[in-house]
Amino acid sequence: MVVVGGGATGLAAAFYLQHPDAAASGRADGLRVTVLEAAAHPGGSVQTLERRGCVIEAGPDSLLLRGEALRSLVRATDLAGRIVAPRSLSTYVYRSGKLHRFPAGTVLGVPARVLPFLRTRLVSPAGKLRALWDFLRRDVQMTGDEAVGTFLRRRLGDAVVDGLVAPLLEEIHNGDIDRMSLLATSPFFLKVRGAHRSLLFGARATLAARLGAGGADEDATRRAGPVSFAAGMQSLIEGIVAQLPSGTVHTHAAVQAITRCGDQYQVTVAGGAAIHADAVILAVPAPGARAILGLAEDFGPLGQASPRHTTLVTLGLRTDEIDPWLPGTGVLVPPTSGCTLSACSWSHLKWPHVAPPGQALLRCYVRDTDEGPTLRPPDDVIAERARQDLERILGIRVNPEFHVVTHCARGISSYAVGHLADVRQARSLVAARYPRVVLAGASYAGVAIPDCVEQGRTAARQAIAELESPGLAARHAAAGACVA
Ligand SMILES: Cc1cc2nc3c(=O)[nH]c(=O)nc-3n(C[C@H](O)[C@H](O)[C@H](O)COP(=O)(O)OP(=O)(O)OC[C@H]3O[C@@H](n4cnc5c(N)ncnc54)[C@H](O)[C@@H]3O)c2cc1C
Repeated sequence: MVVVGGGATGLAAAFYLQHPDAAASGRADGLRVTVLEAAAHPGGSVQTLERRGCVIEAGPDSLLLRGEALRSLVRATDLAGRIVAPRSLSTYVYRSGKLHRFPAGTVLGVPARVLPFLRTRLVSPAGKLRALWDFLRRDVQMTGDEAVGTFLRRRLGDAVVDGLVAPLLEEIHNGDIDRMSLLATSPFFLKVRGAHRSLLFGARATLAARLGAGGADEDATRRAGPVSFAAGMQSLIEGIVAQLPSGTVHTHAAVQAITRCGDQYQVTVAGGAAIHADAVILAVPAPGARAILGLAEDFGPLGQASPRHTTLVTLGLRTDEIDPWLPGTGVLVPPTSGCTLSACSWSHLKWPHVAPPGQALLRCYVRDTDEGPTLRPPDDVIAERARQDLERILGIRVNPEFHVVTHCARGISSYAVGHLADVRQARSLVAARYPRVVLAGASYAGVAIPDCVEQGRTAARQAIAELESPGLAARHAAAGACVA
């Protein structure tokens, strides 16, 4: 069995292929698994660097411990004891040249508590009144997908969407709320609307349930809210790799093509090496999967564009120079501000593990301008622009002692309206042409790490089930030899 791509999805797939008990289904006895990863290190978007004693995340800085696939994996990899929770989370929004506190008690930006909503200046009084329409309105019957923005604007009005929901969701999903698929990115809204007939009531009930669930559970893997690991997010990757038999993960192994060879597949790696496999899990972004399979057919928007490039600038300062002026634990910066930053979090105030005492770390997300690698300014220029933006936002001098600029070429996938139909089409195309080749990863069914781990487990189960389907062994015996 070959897994192509050693990011969170591919490694989770390899883990669940080799730990069938954790997968709780399928028989993986004697299954030999090889993970082929193009880069020099496994992890994909998840990469942690160390600079001047600081933990610097080049990709995600946290995850939510949701879903049994991720919780089982964290328990099996002995990471539970290294889970770190943030100190406190309070966000500000930079709008019209001022910092506004994001109201407490929202669910994905939808107000769930009355007083903070009434007090916020991020929504006008008329906008707050308009949101009450949500209690009265019977929604139109949805026949297909639509944009998250369209759905929410209908229910809550533009002021709540632009003031509260868009700054948060656009940052999480790296896209435009008026183009993002409701079914693929925010089915939660539909679920609560269905259960409560009102989004505001639904958000209130969801928040109450979350607060109720945060009781005295001793199991760290059931912690609500974002968490990280004491040595950074890379621990998750290292933890999974440590559970795989040595030699499972091959780095510098960019897969170029997968071709059918009787009842097997020949997986060709750059440099000419070839491996034969009964089944393949393709845990790379969709455009790469399409190219590897040599599919002339369209994958829809899935196959056309890579996820948007993401650049992070981490600035290191002395805490006494910056801390007194930092509001909350970070700021969201909507596109209308004219800043190159889309968000910044004061990592050292948020996370206890990222910096030694006296050291401040500001993690800035740089807005993607689709310039492409050749037009993108040099890293020093990007860092200087981020510094200037922070001076403008905070209204003080910002004098970093050092900066680290990291690029994530594959960034965060953004799902357009119709995404689920595109995924179904891509999967059925591949299933028809390439049995026992399974597509998984952030391009398809969720970008967050818990979603990727869940997809890895599902892909492992599917591959095992297809391998065990009657007749494969007999067909193997009859298949001709393949030449590598
Ligand atoms: C800046 C940033 C911040 C994020 N923040 C969060 C967060 O806070 N919480 C959260 O849950 N999620 C977050 N995410 C999202 C999450 O990290 C990713 O969606 C997830 O890690 C994707 O995992 P993946 O394995 O599907 O894809 P990837 O991580 O892209 O891995 C795919 C792997 O395939 C390899 N590959 C590609 N082509 C080939 C080939 N031809 N042959 C062999 N190997 C190949 C790549 O090198 C890569 O290692 C963030 C992402 C980014 C970029």
